[in-house]
Amino acid sequence: MRKILVLEDETSIRSFVVINLNRAGYEVIEAGTGAEAFEQLGKHPDIKVAILDVMLPDTDGFEVCRKIRTSDPNVGIIMLTARTQEMDKVTGLMTGADDYITKPFSPAELTARVDALYRRTGTVEVVDSSELIQGPFRLNTKNRTLEKSGERIKLTQVEYSIMKMFMDNPGTALSREDILNTVWGRDYFGELKIADVNIRRLRIKIEDDPTNPTFITTVWGFGYKWGL
Ligand code: CA
Repeated sequence: MRKILVLEDETSIRSFVVINLNRAGYEVIEAGTGAEAFEQLGKHPDIKVAILDVMLPDTDGFEVCRKIRTSDPNVGIIMLTARTQEMDKVTGLMTGADDYITKPFSPAELTARVDALYRRTGTVEVVDSSELIQGPFRLNTKNRTLEKSGERIKLTQVEYSIMKMFMDNPGTALSREDILNTVWGRDYFGELKIADVNIRRLRIKIEDDPTNPTFITTVWGFGYKWGL
């Protein structure tokens, strides 16, 4: 059974999410507070995806996201944000979320986003070659790990997928659409901005000076290019 954590204190929204995810074949573990969420994550280590509301009675969803990330980079995280809180999306992604859904959302949108994230985090790809080495970077495609000058850099699954795409295509300008299609899948119907925010986060982890990136350069009006 594919297990998902849903953290939302508003019972009407939580029921809506639970019913639709059950219908889509997921087993849903529910939590109404941050404390409950951590309790449930402890009890169910096989949870692969977590949906986190931002406004909670005891904490906020970003804090929960940050804490989950420090202990497990592999859990897929989707933030539930309010339409008026545009900054929430960026803040959420910068604290380590993989995606966000803006309230109100349709059942189709919810399940499409969850399915896409679940596919990325829940599957183990079979690979033959196990290492890509370029400049100071060493990407192990078997263990999905990255080292820079021998130092391990912790990546989320999305960041790993972006890094892999770059290292597979050195010196090639990749459009934001290409990146979205490869990393999020062709059926993803989010915004292009999600690629930008994830890349901004990746730059903070891998660049010597993230404000003046030299490995991942911007191709204005188009996308990004990986080079050494
Ligand atoms: Ca709430």
